[in-house]
Order: sequence, then C-alpha cells, then structure tokens
Amino acid sequence: MKILKFGGTSLGTPERMQQVADIIRNGTPMMIVLSAIGGTTDALEDITHYLYKNNKDAAREITSKLERKYKKLAEELYHSEAYHQKATELILSHFNHIRSHFNKSYSGLQQKSILAQGELLSSALFQYYLEEQQVASRLISALAFMRIDKNEEPDELYIQENLERELAKHQGASLFITQGYICRNAFGEIDNLKRGGSDYTASLIGSALEAEEVQIWTDVDGFHNNDPRYVKDTKVIRSLSFDEAAELAYFGAKVLHPASVLPCKLKEIPVRLKNTMNPRDEGTLITTSPSRQEIKAVAAKDGIAAIKIKSNRMLLAYGFIRKVFEVFEMYQTPVDVITTSEVAVSITIDKQDNIENILHDLKKYGAVEVDYHQSIICVVGNLMADEKGIIYKIFDALHDVPVRMISYGGNQYNVTLLVNTRDKTKALNALSNNLFRYEQ
Ligand code: ASP
Ligand code: MG
Repeated sequence: MKILKFGGTSLGTPERMQQVADIIRNGTPMMIVLSAIGGTTDALEDITHYLYKNNKDAAREITSKLERKYKKLAEELYHSEAYHQKATELILSHFNHIRSHFNKSYSGLQQKSILAQGELLSSALFQYYLEEQQVASRLISALAFMRIDKNEEPDELYIQENLERELAKHQGASLFITQGYICRNAFGEIDNLKRGGSDYTASLIGSALEAEEVQIWTDVDGFHNNDPRYVKDTKVIRSLSFDEAAELAYFGAKVLHPASVLPCKLKEIPVRLKNTMNPRDEGTLITTSPSRQEIKAVAAKDGIAAIKIKSNRMLLAYGFIRKVFEVFEMYQTPVDVITTSEVAVSITIDKQDNIENILHDLKKYGAVEVDYHQSIICVVGNLMADEKGIIYKIFDALHDVPVRMISYGGNQYNVTLLVNTRDKTKALNALSNNLFRYEQ
C-alpha cells in the first residue's frame, strides 16, 4: 500500500483535480490523504476568529463568499447533472453546519468543528468526482481512526487498530480516500493536528499500515538545494536522509511540515515529495540511509531575534545557563540556535510574542542585548562525509557578509549561521556559488 497526500494547491481547480485523479488511477493499492482546498482553512480560521470576537456579520460574509466558491467549483467539476446536484447538496449541508454554530455561545469545540469542514468537503467532493468517472474508491472518515491523546500526541496504537478495522470493512477495495489534518481528541471530540497537519496524517497512516512509501504531493518538484526566490539555478535534491530533511523543513523550505515525517522515520518508511504539475519527475526521496554527498542544501528562515546575555559574575560560575533556559521555558518559547562563550550566551528565537517578558526576566542574570530582523541560514548535509575543507568553503563564501552567530557540531548534518536579514540574499548566493558550483 502507498499513501499519497495531496495539498490544497493540488485540489483548487477542476484541472488540478483531474491531474490528481490521473495520478491515482493506476491500480496500485493506495490510501489518499487530502487537505482542504487551498485557502479554505485560512477562511475557516477567519470565521472562527470573527465568532470569537462576536462579529457575526463578518463571519456570515466570509461563509457566504466561501460557499459561492465551492458552488462554482461544483458547477465546473462535474459533468453530469446528477453529480452536480449531489455535490451542491453536500456543500449546502457543510455550510449549514458552519452557520449552525453562529447562534451558539462560542467555544473551542465549535472552532475545531468549523475548521474540520475544509477537509470533510474536499474529500467528499473528490470522491464524488472519482465516482462520476467510474473509478472505484472508498471514503474512510479520519474521525473514525485518527486520534490524539491527552497530551495532544497521536495515539498510534488506537490509530492502527481503528484504521485496520475500517479498511477491513471494504474487502477487495484498493483505493481509499481520507481527510488529512482532522482527528478526534482524548474525549472523542473533533480536533486537528494543527495547521499544515495533513502531512502528519499521511505519515501516521504510513506508519500504522507499514506502507511501502508515503508520497507528499505539492506544487514544487521537492526540496531545492537553495531558495529559488533568492537564488537562480537552484536544483531539486534527489535524496535526503530524515535528519537532513528535518533540518531543512524546519529552517526554511516550506515543502514539508517539520515534525510530520517522524512516524515514517521510526518505521523506516521512505517519504517522497512529488509535484502534481510535473508527475513524471521523481521528486525528492527521503530515507534512513545516510547521505554520501557532503553538502545537500542551504535554507534560510527570517523573522529571528538574537538575544545575548552576558553574565554579571560568570567566570567559573555554574547554573547560569540553566537559569537562562528556564526563562525561555517559562514563556513556552522554543530556542533555535545557541552559542556560548565563557561569559556570555547568545540564543535565537523565532516565536517572539513574549519577548518583552523574556528580556525583563533575563536582566536578573546579566546584561541583555537583542538584535531583531535576523535570518538563520542553515547549511545541510552529511558534513562528516567531507573531512577536509567544508567549513573553509562556507567561511570563504561569507568573507564579506557579517555573521552574528555560528553553530556547528550540534549534529553532523548542519552548520547554522545567523546574519542580518538584509544580508541574506547575498549570503545565500555566495554559499550557492561556493558549495554547488562544481556539482551543477
Ligand atoms: N488544511 C490544513 C491547513 O491548511 C491542513 C493542511 O493543509 O495540511 O493547515
Ligand atoms: Mg502543507
């Protein structure tokens, strides 16, 4: 069995849906995981936001606008009047469900139920589309098997048992459709795996069924070796290890949800990134095998703040770093890059909603400085494969870019640098020239 996940951009128009149908119509046993159609979850989030603010008029307006978009899609998508009719009724029932929340007092439960409508709609509409084209498939509700526990972590045993039971109800069927992102929580209520969570659904299903391969279909050919928005002549990376992919997904490339492939990594199930618009391209294959090639990619992440804390009495002091970290922990702020010297520590953070409190509390332990508008640049690869000169190549490339922090040796897969965002494009291009010039 292969698991294929299609993102919102792969489903937005009748042509795209047709492309997806062509991709999956080859007789291989498959489970298809669908996101909501592009833009839908954002719109549903806006609706819940306005309900929270008790602005029902704004919520109604977005709901009607979204409903019109779906009705138009249904007009264009189906060939026969019978399916157009069925789809229109389905759309109406989901939007009436959304509207049914408008007159209740607003709660988190209602929010989750509204957010779930995007995936419920896309999967049902797509399944009608396959049915109309006489492609045999079964729609399995993710709400019947996907579950998170009290800590909001996937309940893997439950998922496996319940998914197997659901599939066993359809002996002989080989094409299954289900929803990404949505699940039930420990209390049986509708919940979700957080934004971008459909990749996670696919990986969890892949792990539960010990799938042959999990494929994540988007609108790019896979991971690029540098950011195509800032660097010309980037190339698709053909193979990556899970560790490299995790670094890349986290520090830049938005192709894959960073935590999402962990279940596949643990079961050693290959994950392939594919492009719906270019299905023949082999994409990027992520496996457990360590890479032989040294430098795989460069990626950047903006919107970073760097905080430096210089200890009042640091020399030979102990406990300083612990106290510093406790401040970040208290404000639930993940720390990305850390560098230390004997008397000071520099730390980068991405999430800055509590930065004023963090800075205030850190001042107890020393002099604090902060630099905003920084970018993390991450060089990813199997750095140990190149015993000589890799660091030299990186430093040489950056000879006229001021580098605020460098982190190397945390693992063997990345070197992380912090630069001012205004120097980012220059740094990405310089690294590209020095690191990939001979390989392209
Ligand atoms: N539809 C959800 C979102 O937009 C989940 C996903 O697409 O992965 O975040
Ligand atoms: Mg996504």
